[in-house]
Amino acid sequence: MAKNVSKLNSKIWLSSPHMSGHEEKFIKEAFNSNWIAPLGPNVNGFENDLENYLENKTHVAALTTGTAAIHLALVLLNIKENDEVICQTKTFAASVNPVLYLNAKPVFVDSEKDTWNMCPNLLEKAIKDRIKIGKKPKAIIVINLYGMPYKVKEIHTISQKYNIPVVEDSAEALGSQYNNQKCGTFGDLSVLSFNGNKIITTSGGGALVSRSKEVKTKIIYLATQAKEPGLEYSHITTGYNYRMSNVLAGIGRGQMEVLDTYVELRRKNYHYYKKHLGTINEIHFLDEPEGYYSNRWLTCMVLETNKIRDDIQQLLEINNIEARPSWKPMHLQPVFKNYPKYLNGVSDNLYQKALCLPSGSNLTLAELDKIITLIKQYFE
Ligand SMILES: *Cc1c(COP(=O)(O)O)cnc(C)c1O
Repeated sequence: MAKNVSKLNSKIWLSSPHMSGHEEKFIKEAFNSNWIAPLGPNVNGFENDLENYLENKTHVAALTTGTAAIHLALVLLNIKENDEVICQTKTFAASVNPVLYLNAKPVFVDSEKDTWNMCPNLLEKAIKDRIKIGKKPKAIIVINLYGMPYKVKEIHTISQKYNIPVVEDSAEALGSQYNNQKCGTFGDLSVLSFNGNKIITTSGGGALVSRSKEVKTKIIYLATQAKEPGLEYSHITTGYNYRMSNVLAGIGRGQMEVLDTYVELRRKNYHYYKKHLGTINEIHFLDEPEGYYSNRWLTCMVLETNKIRDDIQQLLEINNIEARPSWKPMHLQPVFKNYPKYLNGVSDNLYQKALCLPSGSNLTLAELDKIITLIKQYFE
């Protein structure tokens, strides 16, 4: 089974790539058949694997990165200069940067406490507010943060009420479920990432999940320079070079064979941390609401104060253990500071007090115990 390359006295990483041994056969195939191009049988195979995994009549296009997938999602939704796009503020900057690529404007919306994702009440308030000043938002980018599904029912009720499409950023949530349906199938368009730190990896990669074959065809067309059919190089619209390479898709096919195992291992990490640290008064974990199933991409704990959080982070760091504060909200980032925001304090509080713990599927029990012992000692 899984080759374990992390060692106890070497650094313990937040979330490092975890090769299963199944990847090399697909890469060898690519080399033997000379399919080293940004298309080929592994790309189709990886897309099929993802479509079968996600079910719900999904159509998956494999791309170079998750960020590229968000960019193309916004292009498909016809986002133009000065259009407004509602974005969850509690996320990684990759969710929002593509809005700026199109010279459109992000409008930030804060989170709720149950899932740490976009607050439905605040979303509706923001939409009403923007409509009042004649700027109806063109899209909503919502996140499944750290693998926890967002409030799907509530958010999509609002999306339908105001007829605004949802881009589901599921970069962190492959393998998560909401009411037994997989994350990555809820958005009008959904985004996956296979970056090195994600639940499965192709070293770098992403995918855009759509609801029809026609849309998938259009995504592939845009991702391959928008070249018209025929031998001439003929173009009638702006294209991009965003297609995944056949070599990297081979890694993805191997990783798909262990995806469910890796989800279980990450969930086990969460439960182990919670069992041993959850009894400490100053530490809080985010439980799954009824019907929610998180892949627990990262286990994140909330400390009573900012000082305790920073103390523990530093304590782990001097012991060669990588733990990190949770994503700094976008409304606090200098690059995004001038855009409208609808806040309630939830993301600011998490930014001050939450700490992401090492969460890889390749962590050993000895490594988990080392981390837990250090944290327990801090409180003694
Ligand atoms: C990783 C990540 C992305 C970007 O994916 P890349 O493949 O690294 O471009 C987007 N959104 C979120 C929430 C992420 O965590």
